Amino acid sequence: MESTDRRIRSIVIVGGGTAGWMTAAALAQALQGSCRIELVESEQIGTIGVGEATIPPIKLFNQTLGIDENTFLAATRGTFKLGIEFVGWGRAGHRYFHPFGQIGAEFDKVPLHHYWLRERSRGDTSALEDHSLAWVAARDGRFTLPSTDRRQVLSTLDYAYQFDAGLYAAFLRRYAEARGVRRSEGRIVGTDLRADDGFIERVRLDGGATIDGDLFIDCSGFRGLLIEEALHTGYEDWRHWLPCDRAVAVACEHDDTFAPYTRSTAHAAGWQWRIPLQHRVGNGHVYCSAFTDEDTATRVLLDNLTGQPLGTPRPLRFTTGRRRRFWHRNCVAIGLSAGFLEPLESTSIHLIQTAITRLLALFPDRDFDAVTTAEFNRLTGVEYERIRDFLILHYHANTRDEPMWRHVATMEIPEPLAYKLAHFRGHGRLVAESLELFQNPNWLAVMVGQEVWPERHDPLADLRTGVDAASRLASLRQVIAEVAAAMPTQREYIDRHCRAQ
Ligand code: FAD
Repeated sequence: MESTDRRIRSIVIVGGGTAGWMTAAALAQALQGSCRIELVESEQIGTIGVGEATIPPIKLFNQTLGIDENTFLAATRGTFKLGIEFVGWGRAGHRYFHPFGQIGAEFDKVPLHHYWLRERSRGDTSALEDHSLAWVAARDGRFTLPSTDRRQVLSTLDYAYQFDAGLYAAFLRRYAEARGVRRSEGRIVGTDLRADDGFIERVRLDGGATIDGDLFIDCSGFRGLLIEEALHTGYEDWRHWLPCDRAVAVACEHDDTFAPYTRSTAHAAGWQWRIPLQHRVGNGHVYCSAFTDEDTATRVLLDNLTGQPLGTPRPLRFTTGRRRRFWHRNCVAIGLSAGFLEPLESTSIHLIQTAITRLLALFPDRDFDAVTTAEFNRLTGVEYERIRDFLILHYHANTRDEPMWRHVATMEIPEPLAYKLAHFRGHGRLVAESLELFQNPNWLAVMVGQEVWPERHDPLADLRTGVDAASRLASLRQVIAEVAAAMPTQREYIDRHCRAQ
């Protein structure tokens, strides 16, 4: 008689990049040894080796694993990140900051930015970001942990990390192996599917060894060894909206600024990231091959470094888009095998994190019922699409004069983004839904940063005659400046708490 025990007995993770080891660590922690977890990776193939900037929810991932923040930052030579500075986006010579956390502290039922818009229309020249503690601190290279006391302006701050992703994977590998995850070294050369239902039965390694499993996690990077090469789920190409398809990356020497933020500088046919770590600065030029070539892109990158390059620039290729199905049969794609959105808002590692959380929330048994899979695919699809729209906004709302920028300014955009823009252009209203990763403060920072100006502010602001918004905004700016000035510099904070030895 067949057993009624339908529990998953073994999980095979294919790939040992950031996605593979994050998944291994989280599953080992959650499943507590009740299930065999085996990870296969190939040193010969290696990992993509970029991916250094993150967004605030990563803190929760580490906390769930019980990882001490200072130990983690020392091990990964990490720094704190308070947001992203965008230089030359919108128009040449312009800059703005997309901060983490809230912009200002709300003082009325009408959101603060409507009062700011009104004061601006009356001639006040204060920038929106002057009401953001994250920006004022970041500008001066300062950092401290936020307060949990909601009455303090320090509670409006939020932060993420910038770290060496290779060291993070190594750190998580130690964590996962200590909790029973088995690692196999070798190149997978084949995948066997069950004859009756097409489920994955095992993977075959080049030396002849095989690894069987009930559940397979594809963390094999862009190629999607299982989800695409074995199961042929298909890929939705989004290059008509996000046309950048190449990057060239190089680290450079550290300078003295030790900035607690990532910088993104727009160039003629793409943009360049700058991510300061404790021991080096990560740089890369993301560009569109239809508008420039690799030699030019590399020269632009090298001309815009802030220190001597460490090594030779490395070219990378990608196709922005998503797998048509992230979970198919007994295979779940996590990481680059699931899709790719360019690193403009540092979302890839986050997408790994949410895929793991979602897998645990919808953890299957060996029946792999169709509604579970469908729900995973639905939620993941929505997540990708809303992030995609947020990225498109950065490109679309621009008045730059180069061919690539003119192309993206005039292209047709997805309907949900057009809807958000119509609301903001009309009455400055922000309509992010609760499921979206980027919430109203994020949209506000980028809308204003890209100079999408509303025709009117919220009419309710003018009816609330008892609110002295001008003085509330002025005192907020003053408190923020004082609180930021009292913070240690990021260098002092790191030297004190989490300097790599
Ligand atoms: P990979 O690192 O490619 O790992 C794939 C693994 O699969 C490797 O271990 C490989 O050996 C193994 N493998 C493949 N084929 C086989 C086989 N046949 N047999 C055995 N093993 C195999 N993300 C961010 O969050 N922030 C950023 O700032 C950021 N910047 C980026 C910049 C660029 C230009 C690019 C392209 C990506 C960036 N990312 C960023 C994304 C980030 O790099 C990835 O999300 C992250 O590294 C996860 O990659 P991965 O583990 O899915 O794939």
